[in-house]
Amino acid sequence: MSRVFHRHLKASYPTAVAGDGPYLIDAAGKRYLDACGGAAVSCLGHSDPEVQAAISEQVKRMAYAHSSFFTSEPMEALADFLVDRAPQGIGSVYFVSGGSEAVEAALKMARQYFLEIGQPERTQVIARRQSYHGNTLGALATGGNAWRRRPFEPLLADTTHVSPCYAYRGQRADESAEAYGERLAVELEDTIERLGPRRVMAFVAEPVVGATLGAVPAVPGYFRRVREICDRHGILLILDEVMCGMGRTGSLFACEQEGVSPDLLTVAKGLGGGYQPIGATLASARIRDTIAEGTGFFQHGHTYIGHATACAAALAVQRAVEKRGLLEQVRARGEALRARLEQRFGDHPHVGDIRGRGLFLGLELVADRASKEPFDPDRRLNAAVKAAAMDQGLMCYPAGGTLDGRRGDHVLLAPPYIVEEDHLDEIVDKLDAAL
Ligand code: PMP
Repeated sequence: MSRVFHRHLKASYPTAVAGDGPYLIDAAGKRYLDACGGAAVSCLGHSDPEVQAAISEQVKRMAYAHSSFFTSEPMEALADFLVDRAPQGIGSVYFVSGGSEAVEAALKMARQYFLEIGQPERTQVIARRQSYHGNTLGALATGGNAWRRRPFEPLLADTTHVSPCYAYRGQRADESAEAYGERLAVELEDTIERLGPRRVMAFVAEPVVGATLGAVPAVPGYFRRVREICDRHGILLILDEVMCGMGRTGSLFACEQEGVSPDLLTVAKGLGGGYQPIGATLASARIRDTIAEGTGFFQHGHTYIGHATACAAALAVQRAVEKRGLLEQVRARGEALRARLEQRFGDHPHVGDIRGRGLFLGLELVADRASKEPFDPDRRLNAAVKAAAMDQGLMCYPAGGTLDGRRGDHVLLAPPYIVEEDHLDEIVDKLDAAL
């Protein structure tokens, strides 16, 4: 019996031993095409020689330099790389080891910012139902996925949840996308009024919702309205791009496509592409400068902040994505994959919706297309699809909870940016067989 405390204690996993481009290989030599990047992590596949060389060069120089004593060349260079390309207003980067930590840091930065400017009453957070922002207690309290929250309630933070922007289930048949976005904006305004505008600290959302809804972008104009509402009330906008950021949707940051700049922006998965654990909280110059000129000390920190090896890996990944023109490839292959999915599953009786951006695509599974009735959650369809795909030698990310945290299944596809046309055919054929 395995002595690893796995998440799924009743499951048994193959042992991964090697990577080959977009494939992972297990101890028996079986190859798995990674059609989901694990969980939208692997953007450069599993065996990139440039990244491997950057990691080994850095690790030969030194093991570890604590961030309270030293900065490091890779950490400074990665911060420069990110800020030079970040949305308007972003001025600095706080490095962490993953997505949940990035969200925690963003929440605490927001809180400390308001303490520094003498508004300690701003403690309330507004997020959206069915959202996922991480599994640590603060990030879990922010997320709106009922199924994940329930076992740990009461949770820590003051969070109020509003409706997600989820056209497939939220937009009425007789309603334009614009009117739907406006209805959500009104709900947000009403919620702020109810909480008391001067008590609200931040609104938190994923530009394209990943793990819980399956690659759902907002309707056009929604995020511009959200930005406007936040500005009017002095509320900070935190965009969580842990899953959808770092090129996944075809632009380096997903919010570029919405025409909005957040005050705080979290990234993780695609930042290190799986080569090292790393995440980051990008902060506006205003937030950073306020804390710098005030107490001068951000009351937060972890031992592995800005680990040089992790930063060197992320820098190599990001330079490779840029140098090889992979964002263009994400857009082109994303369109090609979407076209193939529509052709193959467009009238599949159990595929209700195909959506997403770039190489971040979702298929919503339904028991009945006309009524959009979901499958019975007790049948654990998502686990069955995952298992059938793994049998086929395909990794796809099936999840549940699109409706209320428990009901509603989807399959998320987020292959590495390096996939070729042949890989797209393999993904669609194997997914078809699995479904
Ligand atoms: N935010 C979002 C949007 C995510 O998708 C995830 C992970 N799925 C997280 C935060 C948490 O990241 P991590 O698992 O690296 O802690």
